Amino acid sequence: MKKRFLIVVLAITLLSLNVACQNKESKEVKAVETKLNEKQIPLKERVLTAAEQKALTPESVIQRLKEGNKRFMKNDLTLRDNSALVRDATEGQYPKAVILSCVDSRIPVEDVFNKGIGDLFVARVAGNFVNEDILGSMEFGCKVSGAKLILVLGHESCGAIKSAIDDVKLGNITAMLAKIKPAIAGSQDFAGDKTSKNDDFVDAVAKKNVLLTIQNIKDKSPILKEMAEKGEIKIVGAYYDLHSGEVIFL
Ligand SMILES: [Zn+2]
Repeated sequence: MKKRFLIVVLAITLLSLNVACQNKESKEVKAVETKLNEKQIPLKERVLTAAEQKALTPESVIQRLKEGNKRFMKNDLTLRDNSALVRDATEGQYPKAVILSCVDSRIPVEDVFNKGIGDLFVARVAGNFVNEDILGSMEFGCKVSGAKLILVLGHESCGAIKSAIDDVKLGNITAMLAKIKPAIAGSQDFAGDKTSKNDDFVDAVAKKNVLLTIQNIKDKSPILKEMAEKGEIKIVGAYYDLHSGEVIFL
């Protein structure tokens, strides 16, 4: 009998402790909510609608990306309710732009432009060049899904560019680096040391690679070329400065 009584007392004690903890947690949550309300911080961004995407122009998208990058550099980031954005995005996607970036882990593409769910198509490959699959993805992004801009984004101190300059040969990396080699051949008028140790030469090749990639997009995709000629999209290049976080449009 005594044992059963003790078990009942123990159970009641644990139950009341649990209730106390839950009360404490909900009080803490309420306190945070009140703080946010007091500051009146608005959750500013939401998923783009089809009508909003249609109203955009290539120039206005470039402007928005530039403004987003300024906010990123100042750490003045747009607050987002990601749970709500995830729910809204299930209705469909109407992104503003297609970004082709290197795989470099130091360039989180959406963050760099202060964008979020539903804003951008992002294609990534080491050395940000195009092949058939990436061109197909770009055509899908622009012709099928209505994006207004293609941005090829190279960057400072690119390992893929350095490896291509060094003529690295290893597994599938060899064939991948061959796609970057034309940018090295196109940078031979560079005055100075043309090795991967020279940051200025690496930067010159990275920028040349962006320009050649833009040319390749136009040469190899009649669909995107025609859209660009009609002014339906723009195909532009930019260079990411690892030191400042700035995206410099070329
Ligand atoms: Zn890179």
